[in-house]
Amino acid sequence: MPHWHDKNPTEEQLALLRSIRALAFDVDGVLTDGGIIYGTSGMEIKRFDCKDGLGLRLWLKAGFDLAIITGRESVAVSERAKDLNLKYVYQKCGDKAEVLKRFSLESGVPLKEICVVGDDIIDIPMMRSAGLAVAVGDASIECKEAAQLVTLKAGGRGAAREVIEYILKGRFLWDKVIADYYA
Ligand SMILES: [Mg+2]
Repeated sequence: MPHWHDKNPTEEQLALLRSIRALAFDVDGVLTDGGIIYGTSGMEIKRFDCKDGLGLRLWLKAGFDLAIITGRESVAVSERAKDLNLKYVYQKCGDKAEVLKRFSLESGVPLKEICVVGDDIIDIPMMRSAGLAVAVGDASIECKEAAQLVTLKAGGRGAAREVIEYILKGRFLWDKVIADYYA
């Protein structure tokens, strides 16, 4: 199983990392721990991670694009997206690979420069069409096998932050985007 913390990345892996200009995240199990709490009147409650949230903000601050692509539809996701000022939010997606193509067209970022982060079998088609496929640490076996990289952290527990830090550090941009906090 590939894991980016196992060894130093090769030149080829670093080149791939540095070519990434957009991220596409699945929601349930990637930006959340996968738990879905059903409230009254069809309300869904999800738990997002604040360190992931800051990671997403830093990614946008670095000037890159970001999409969330989910098979479900909920007010919780719309609210979280609004909170983070996300421009590309795709909910109720049947064919995620098709939606990834749409994101590529709308953002102008070629598929090979997009990194997709998933946690389960439903994400495999979009992971296959992206330049870099990442599975969260607690993803399904199939999803991990389809990924080039697997995070140490679990979905909704810092996996998104880990991916963002890894790419921004690989591009030597991390220190730059966090510099304001030290000013
Ligand atoms: Mg999922």
